[in-house]
Amino acid sequence: MKQIQIAIDGPASSGKSTVAKIIARDFGYTYLDTGAMYRAVTYLALQNGLGLEDIDSILMLLEAHPISFGRDEEGEQLVFVGDVDVTHAIRENDVTNAVSAVAAQEMIRERLVALQRSIAEQGGIVMDGRDIGTVVLPTAELKIFLVASVQERAERRYKENLQKGIETDLATLEKEIAERDYKDSHRAVSPLKPAEDAIHFDTTGVDIPAVVDFISKKAKKILDKSAET
Ligand code: C5P
Repeated sequence: MKQIQIAIDGPASSGKSTVAKIIARDFGYTYLDTGAMYRAVTYLALQNGLGLEDIDSILMLLEAHPISFGRDEEGEQLVFVGDVDVTHAIRENDVTNAVSAVAAQEMIRERLVALQRSIAEQGGIVMDGRDIGTVVLPTAELKIFLVASVQERAERRYKENLQKGIETDLATLEKEIAERDYKDSHRAVSPLKPAEDAIHFDTTGVDIPAVVDFISKKAKKILDKSAET
């Protein structure tokens, strides 16, 4: 059966990774969290005391400690740099607040986009990020652009952080999310923006199953159509 590429883009905490994971599981596709890759590079730079503009050194470190993914016993995705499990460390505030600066660097993006495309070549994929529909997979059969109000996204992140034991307060989160949105959508290279052929979906007040259902129906329609031809 034909497999498709599903690109899910949108700003921070718009629900991308939660729905992308479920859809990938339901369709038996690979899930790739590209934000985790930019976070892993940022973690490497911070951990090694490198300046965020010291691109050559960051790229050398990345060469020596490549990013890879695995799974724990419950099937949850794990992120590694070299053999170090950084799954939790990359969600900490220091990484979150520095990642946009690292992600704005063209050379870093080139390296990670090449890796993202090579993973997508292996078959059906659900990839989430900021530039998946525009740059990484411009020919993806289904492109979704998720948005939600800053308040709602801050509340979601607050709850997630509580579960992960990361300390934050709501007002700070709102400010940080708005700042990250601004930086991600105003950078020169591959800014956050919807692809021309992306389907927009505002998830404010919409629960996860409803978003999953919406995207799954679109994907099934594409698959049914291709089975007819
Ligand atoms: O999705 P997440 O919030 O984990 O992404 C972290 C950061 O990585 C984003 O704020 C953005 O700066 C960067 N990013 C990106 N391009 C992607 C995915 C994430 O620039 N495709």
